Amino acid sequence: MNARLDHRSPLVFDTRELGRRPGALKRVARSVPAPADLGIEVIGVAEGATVELDLRLESVMEGVLVTGTARAPLTGECVRCLEPLERELDADFQEMYSYPDADARSRLAATDDDAEEDEEDTLFLEDDMVDLEPVLRDAVVLSLPLQPVCQEDCLGLCSECGARLADDPDHHHESVDIRWAALQGLAGSPQDGEMDNAPRSNGDDSQEK
Ligand SMILES: [Zn+2]
Ligand SMILES: [Zn+2]
Repeated sequence: MNARLDHRSPLVFDTRELGRRPGALKRVARSVPAPADLGIEVIGVAEGATVELDLRLESVMEGVLVTGTARAPLTGECVRCLEPLERELDADFQEMYSYPDADARSRLAATDDDAEEDEEDTLFLEDDMVDLEPVLRDAVVLSLPLQPVCQEDCLGLCSECGARLADDPDHHHESVDIRWAALQGLAGSPQDGEMDNAPRSNGDDSQEK
């Protein structure tokens, strides 16, 4: 069902040394280049940036329990003012990787509904290797701020001119006057103009917005 895991991939971990005796434990630290698209639209780990992984692989009855943390630099932009920003990612995760044969046993015991759910959620060891990538992705996305801001009280951008308000908090526009002038312009348009090109006044309306 899956393409075979590439044991050279930096996010694939070999558990053979661990053995299958429940309770056996192995710690692994590894720095890996971030895969592409590790994050969400507004913030994430740049492709190739160093992700520091600290893992604990633990042999349990049905498979290998992987517990770990990932640390990496985050880059993104403030959702209010669009300034670039930098953060540190510090994400924890824990995931069970089942032995394919252990799953066959537990599937027999489970009800049909459970089996279906399990099949979607369960990760499996493949050739005694675990592929950390899906787990890392989930952990990173869950730990990211959905609405990152450069500072909590970021004022965002001026709706009139797009200036960053934090840089220029006092600035303001004669916005009322501009709209007023537009209205006056409409009101003041000669009545004979209204007679010979009514469609054009629709165009003026949309400009006003
Ligand atoms: Zn901001
Ligand atoms: Zn402005």
